[in-house]
Amino acid sequence: MRFLAVFLWLAVQVRAADFDVLIRNARVIDGAGNPWFRASVAIKDGRVAAIGALPDANAARVIDAGQRVVAPGFIDVHVHVEGNLERNPRADNFLLDGVTTVVTGNCGSSELNLAAWFEKLNKLGLGINVASLVGHNSVRREVMGGANRQATPEEIRKMQALVDRAMRDGAVGFSTGLEYVPGVYSNTAEVVALAKAAAAHGGVYTSHMRNEGIHEIEAITEAVNVGREAGMAVEISHLKIDRRAVWGASDQSLALIEKFRREGVDVTADQYPYDRASTSLSIRLPAWALADGKIKERLADPPTRRKIAAEMRQMLAEMGETDYGFATVARFVSNTGYEGKTIPEINALKGRAPGVDNELETIFELMSAGGASMTYRLMSEADIERIMRFPYTAIASDGGVQEFGAGNPHPRSYGTNSRVLAEYVRTRGVLTLEEAIRRMTSLPARTFGLRDRGLVREGMAADLVVFDPARVDDKATYAKPHQHSVGFDYVLVNGKLVVDGGKLTSARPGQTLKK
Ligand SMILES: [Zn+2]
Repeated sequence: MRFLAVFLWLAVQVRAADFDVLIRNARVIDGAGNPWFRASVAIKDGRVAAIGALPDANAARVIDAGQRVVAPGFIDVHVHVEGNLERNPRADNFLLDGVTTVVTGNCGSSELNLAAWFEKLNKLGLGINVASLVGHNSVRREVMGGANRQATPEEIRKMQALVDRAMRDGAVGFSTGLEYVPGVYSNTAEVVALAKAAAAHGGVYTSHMRNEGIHEIEAITEAVNVGREAGMAVEISHLKIDRRAVWGASDQSLALIEKFRREGVDVTADQYPYDRASTSLSIRLPAWALADGKIKERLADPPTRRKIAAEMRQMLAEMGETDYGFATVARFVSNTGYEGKTIPEINALKGRAPGVDNELETIFELMSAGGASMTYRLMSEADIERIMRFPYTAIASDGGVQEFGAGNPHPRSYGTNSRVLAEYVRTRGVLTLEEAIRRMTSLPARTFGLRDRGLVREGMAADLVVFDPARVDDKATYAKPHQHSVGFDYVLVNGKLVVDGGKLTSARPGQTLKK
């Protein structure tokens, strides 16, 4: 009798362990752009094990989706999590926005020793999956510091070796940030030489281009030429038109990308769904003034200070702006009272009369105190919508892991995906739901070589989100950015629930993903 009881108990256990998780009554959006279909999705050992009616299926955990959508977890291929992920390895703001995988190391800035960094992250225990690019600026700084000159052949060889090592350690590609120091000092030949070291391992080339406004056509052409010469796919990072003077020019940028695709160049783009950019205050200064990290010394020299001011006045005019009202401080550690305030507002706080001359003095004071991170109101909704409709544009935040409540950061870290689903799909109808999901899943997975993610298919990694398309919403705003998105009721990473009933769990199933 006892043997029989044990046998029956075992049989029940085996039966119950058919699947780890079973999601019933779902509308499945598979990530490929196909219309939704009704099915149950079963998960076992971190993978999608079965999709279908599955009337007899049994699982340790059964979730009734109640006709909500089940989609692949979102893949955000443009983030900056170096440093901030270590402080919050669960990555709350991303998980609650439906993001299950991020690609970091963008805009030329990455960890250089990826093997060591990945090991550290794995020890901490990640909420999300993390892949990384290797960044040109990080590589150049390591070999050449902040030098404003061309690289020597010897320096090129040293930089190539660093790119090669990062690719061997699992980087998914090579990124540039050609508007930033020190990448801004490089020529195209240098970028091609380093991109080749990544192409040898099958990496993608991602480019924060030299220009996103007046000279965008030349900048896209340069990025595509790098990909052509190095023999690799090209991703244009955070595609936008970032100055009033040339609003509307996105039609020319997109036509050019189409033309290159017809010619056989694999070029795609990513975009965040906001009319403000976010980056350093230093990007408003001429690049030569930042060389070798000597901005303080240059500002302390009156003739150099006047020269910098004159060039900045010129740059402002070229942008089509009459003052720095488009610039808001996001983070300024020396005086957090400035956070959330525009440059003219800070100018007034300092007791200065309005006007660009005094605003420049205010900017110089912030720079001398170590600089600030900023948001910049620079884009038009017409360009945003046109770029979003473009079939080769993926959705990506350009955000990072936020310390909840700290500073006045750009809301994109919290709300990128839910904002697309709420504002651009539900309210404005810019994209269908299925098409928006494709831009968040299989399109970025394709470009960055994440072959077992981005689709709901048997055998794929079980990164999944369950949400009600009528209810999903971004809450983070420019004025109040520290607000998590709502509506992602269940989020699974590698088959484990990281969000359960809308609440974060203690699970840390994220992995570092190597090419
Ligand atoms: Zn960038």
